[in-house]
Amino acid sequence: MLIKNKTGFFQRFYLVEILKGLAITKKHFLKNLFGKTVTIQYPEERRQYSDRFRGMHYIKATNGVENCTACMLCPTVCPAECIHIVAGERPDKEKYPVKFEIDVLRCCFCGMCEEACPKDAIKLSTIYEMSVAQRTVYTKDYLLEQRGNK
Ligand code: SF4
Ligand code: SF4
Repeated sequence: MLIKNKTGFFQRFYLVEILKGLAITKKHFLKNLFGKTVTIQYPEERRQYSDRFRGMHYIKATNGVENCTACMLCPTVCPAECIHIVAGERPDKEKYPVKFEIDVLRCCFCGMCEEACPKDAIKLSTIYEMSVAQRTVYTKDYLLEQRGNK
Protein backbone atom coordinates (compact mmCIF):
# COMPACT_ATOMS: atom_id res chain seq x y z
CA MET A 1 0.00 0.00 0.00
CA LEU A 2 1.29 3.44 -0.97
CA ILE A 3 1.44 5.92 1.93
CA LYS A 4 0.89 9.53 0.84
CA ASN A 5 3.39 12.09 2.08
CA LYS A 6 1.25 14.77 3.81
CA THR A 7 4.17 17.18 4.29
CA GLY A 8 3.49 20.57 2.68
CA PHE A 9 5.67 22.07 -0.03
CA PHE A 10 7.47 24.54 2.28
CA GLN A 11 7.75 22.03 5.12
CA ARG A 12 9.78 19.77 2.87
CA PHE A 13 12.57 22.37 2.83
CA TYR A 14 12.57 22.53 6.69
CA LEU A 15 13.62 26.18 6.44
CA VAL A 16 10.28 27.53 7.64
CA GLU A 17 10.27 25.08 10.56
CA ILE A 18 13.84 26.01 11.50
CA LEU A 19 12.91 29.72 11.47
CA LYS A 20 9.82 29.01 13.58
CA GLY A 21 12.00 27.14 16.13
CA LEU A 22 14.53 29.99 16.24
CA ALA A 23 11.71 32.51 16.78
CA ILE A 24 10.46 30.52 19.80
CA THR A 25 14.00 30.28 21.23
CA LYS A 26 14.49 34.05 20.71
CA LYS A 27 11.13 34.81 22.37
CA HIS A 28 12.11 32.83 25.49
CA PHE A 29 15.62 34.32 25.52
CA LEU A 30 14.28 37.89 25.45
CA LYS A 31 11.57 37.06 28.01
CA ASN A 32 14.22 35.75 30.41
CA LEU A 33 16.55 38.66 29.70
CA PHE A 34 14.05 41.49 30.23
CA GLY A 35 11.16 39.85 32.04
CA LYS A 36 10.89 37.79 35.22
CA THR A 37 13.42 35.02 35.00
CA VAL A 38 12.50 31.53 36.12
CA THR A 39 15.91 30.85 37.65
CA ILE A 40 15.84 30.61 41.46
CA GLN A 41 18.93 31.99 43.21
CA TYR A 42 19.14 29.13 45.69
CA PRO A 43 19.85 29.16 48.67
CA GLU A 44 19.12 32.91 48.99
CA GLU A 45 15.80 32.41 47.21
CA ARG A 46 13.59 29.43 47.94
CA ARG A 47 10.80 28.07 45.83
CA GLN A 48 7.37 28.02 47.43
CA TYR A 49 5.85 24.58 47.32
CA SER A 50 2.25 23.59 47.94
CA ASP A 51 1.25 22.56 51.47
CA ARG A 52 0.50 19.17 49.96
CA PHE A 53 4.17 18.70 49.01
CA ARG A 54 5.53 15.48 50.54
CA GLY A 55 8.98 16.04 51.97
CA MET A 56 10.86 14.97 55.07
CA HIS A 57 9.03 12.73 57.54
CA TYR A 58 8.46 13.52 61.19
CA ILE A 59 6.71 11.87 64.14
CA LYS A 60 4.08 13.87 65.99
CA ALA A 61 4.02 13.90 69.78
CA THR A 62 1.47 14.98 72.39
CA ASN A 63 2.82 16.34 75.70
CA GLY A 64 6.24 15.02 74.80
CA VAL A 65 4.99 11.48 74.15
CA GLU A 66 5.10 10.14 70.59
CA ASN A 67 1.65 9.53 69.07
CA CYS A 68 2.83 6.27 67.52
CA THR A 69 1.48 3.09 69.12
CA ALA A 70 3.59 0.73 67.00
CA CYS A 71 0.49 -0.70 65.34
CA MET A 72 2.62 -1.69 62.30
CA LEU A 73 0.16 -0.29 59.76
CA CYS A 74 2.69 2.03 58.13
CA PRO A 75 5.38 -0.61 57.50
CA THR A 76 2.62 -2.88 56.16
CA VAL A 77 1.38 -0.39 53.54
CA CYS A 78 4.80 1.04 52.64
CA PRO A 79 5.47 -0.04 49.03
CA ALA A 80 9.22 0.51 49.42
CA GLU A 81 9.43 -1.54 52.64
CA CYS A 82 11.59 1.16 54.15
CA ILE A 83 9.96 1.55 57.59
CA HIS A 84 11.35 -0.66 60.35
CA ILE A 85 9.68 -0.67 63.76
CA VAL A 86 10.42 -2.64 66.90
CA ALA A 87 7.51 -2.47 69.35
CA GLY A 88 7.87 -2.37 73.12
CA GLU A 89 5.95 -1.71 76.32
CA ARG A 90 6.53 0.83 79.08
CA PRO A 91 4.56 1.97 82.19
CA ASP A 92 2.95 5.01 80.50
CA LYS A 93 2.14 3.26 77.25
CA GLU A 94 0.93 -0.21 76.40
CA LYS A 95 2.71 -0.21 73.07
CA TYR A 96 5.29 2.18 71.65
CA PRO A 97 8.08 2.05 69.07
CA VAL A 98 11.39 1.17 70.75
CA LYS A 99 12.94 1.54 67.32
CA PHE A 100 11.38 3.48 64.44
CA GLU A 101 13.54 3.84 61.37
CA ILE A 102 12.94 5.03 57.82
CA ASP A 103 15.47 4.20 55.14
CA VAL A 104 15.08 7.42 53.18
CA LEU A 105 16.98 6.33 50.09
CA ARG A 106 14.36 3.64 49.51
CA CYS A 107 11.39 5.91 50.24
CA CYS A 108 9.42 7.15 47.21
CA PHE A 109 7.51 9.79 49.23
CA CYS A 110 4.15 8.35 48.25
CA GLY A 111 2.57 9.41 51.58
CA MET A 112 0.85 6.06 52.16
CA CYS A 113 2.32 5.77 55.67
CA GLU A 114 0.72 9.12 56.57
CA GLU A 115 -2.61 8.07 55.05
CA ALA A 116 -2.66 4.73 56.87
CA CYS A 117 -1.69 5.96 60.34
CA PRO A 118 -4.71 5.81 62.71
CA LYS A 119 -2.92 7.97 65.31
CA ASP A 120 -1.85 10.82 63.02
CA ALA A 121 1.69 10.03 64.17
CA ILE A 122 3.78 9.77 61.02
CA LYS A 123 3.65 12.87 58.83
CA LEU A 124 5.41 14.18 55.76
CA SER A 125 6.50 17.80 56.01
CA THR A 126 7.14 20.31 53.21
CA ILE A 127 10.90 20.24 53.89
CA TYR A 128 12.72 19.34 50.69
CA GLU A 129 16.35 19.90 51.67
CA MET A 130 17.32 16.29 52.24
CA SER A 131 20.39 15.80 50.06
CA VAL A 132 22.98 13.52 51.63
CA ALA A 133 26.37 12.18 50.65
CA GLN A 134 25.78 8.73 52.09
CA ARG A 135 22.97 6.30 52.86
CA THR A 136 20.62 7.82 55.42
CA VAL A 137 18.33 6.12 57.89
CA TYR A 138 16.07 8.44 59.91
CA THR A 139 15.95 7.26 63.49
CA LYS A 140 13.08 7.76 65.93
CA ASP A 141 14.90 10.58 67.78
CA TYR A 142 15.63 12.36 64.52
CA LEU A 143 12.03 11.99 63.33
CA LEU A 144 10.75 13.39 66.65
CA GLU A 145 13.16 16.33 66.37
CA GLN A 146 11.90 17.19 62.88
CA ARG A 147 8.37 17.93 64.11
CA GLY A 148 9.62 21.34 65.27
CA ASN A 149 10.96 22.18 61.81
CA LYS A 150 7.94 21.36 59.70
S1 SF4 B 1 6.23 7.86 52.00
FE1 SF4 B 1 5.65 5.91 51.04
S2 SF4 B 1 7.60 4.91 50.60
FE2 SF4 B 1 8.03 6.56 52.04
S3 SF4 B 1 7.97 5.61 54.05
FE3 SF4 B 1 5.91 6.41 53.63
S4 SF4 B 1 4.80 4.69 52.70
FE4 SF4 B 1 6.98 4.21 52.60
S1 SF4 C 1 3.29 5.68 62.82
FE1 SF4 C 1 1.07 5.31 62.87
S2 SF4 C 1 0.75 3.62 61.45
FE2 SF4 C 1 2.94 3.68 61.90
S3 SF4 C 1 3.17 2.22 63.58
FE3 SF4 C 1 2.91 4.26 64.48
S4 SF4 C 1 0.72 4.43 64.90
FE4 SF4 C 1 0.97 2.73 63.47
